[in-house]
Amino acid sequence: MRDAVFRRALGSFAEMTDLPAGTREALAGALRIHSSSVEKVQRSKDGTAKLLVLLEDGQRVEAVVIPEGKRRTLCVSTEVGCPVKCVFCASGLEGLLRPLAAHEIVEQVLHARRLLAAEGEGAITNLVLMGMGEPLLNYEATAAALKALRDPKGIGLGARRITLSTVGIVEGMERLAGEGHPINLAVSLHAPDDATRNRIVPLNAKYGVAKVAEASRRYAKATGRDVTFEYVLLAGLNDSDAQAGLLADLAAGAHVNVNLIPFNRVEGLPYSPPSPEREEAFADILRARGVVVHVRRRRGDDIDAACGQLRLKVDGGAL
Ligand code: SAH
Repeated sequence: MRDAVFRRALGSFAEMTDLPAGTREALAGALRIHSSSVEKVQRSKDGTAKLLVLLEDGQRVEAVVIPEGKRRTLCVSTEVGCPVKCVFCASGLEGLLRPLAAHEIVEQVLHARRLLAAEGEGAITNLVLMGMGEPLLNYEATAAALKALRDPKGIGLGARRITLSTVGIVEGMERLAGEGHPINLAVSLHAPDDATRNRIVPLNAKYGVAKVAEASRRYAKATGRDVTFEYVLLAGLNDSDAQAGLLADLAAGAHVNVNLIPFNRVEGLPYSPPSPEREEAFADILRARGVVVHVRRRRGDDIDAACGQLRLKVDGGAL
């Protein structure tokens, strides 16, 4: 059964044709495979697919499949809504409705695998916990889901193919470093100084920049995996040369890379991305200091599936 659900991505007992018909019927009458279902799939013109997943209590979350060359990355949610309320992000606009249970995180992967299999596409190669919610504020369920997904008897996803993105919950980062399964860690820094970060990430009042940067360096040291600082460039707020210099101070020589994320517009929010020239100048200052910089490409923004655009809405209306 585990093989049928995890490896072969089957979604109903009827599909398990290696079982006798009577057994299939009996199982279907007594058990169900998934607690959630895919309510809707939206396709971007760049190939990105957004799955709207309906949970058994009527809540919804989104998961996004992002194809890129030979890679197929799946981005999953860990909470319905988000309690953190970063000022530029759609997912926190309505606050936290509830954390997801471990099986609800795992099921997003199973649904995405079924979708890919049905379309004759290959398996998911990479998993990112970067959808709605803050995974380290839902630690137990997230850790249990990762354990199930890594299990070699099931999907067997390697730790190196998994990336968890956090706003910087220091205790959670410490705990994760001690798990002994070094997954990649991305930290949403977004500003290199407390005055700016306080304006963008309200949780900075609790874990200031210095503590978050220190915990990131410790994670890199403990796991041997470089940490990534995620940095959404917001015109006039965090994109100055001086801020690039401060960011370089935090990252240079510390096994920390920087991922510059273009701001994806969110309806009703007043922020905008800097010009491509400003973005390039900012990246160049970091590179000149020896910091590895990636500029994340915008994917799926025509269907509101890009970073920070996942929110609780169906057909345009907020729930
Ligand atoms: N709670 C986790 C996962 C959130 S989403 C975290 O904070 O890291 C993943 C990334 O998308 C985060 O870096 C987040 O800050 C960023 N993001 C949020 N809103 C965005 C927007 N409108 N445009 C671009 N990136 C955004």
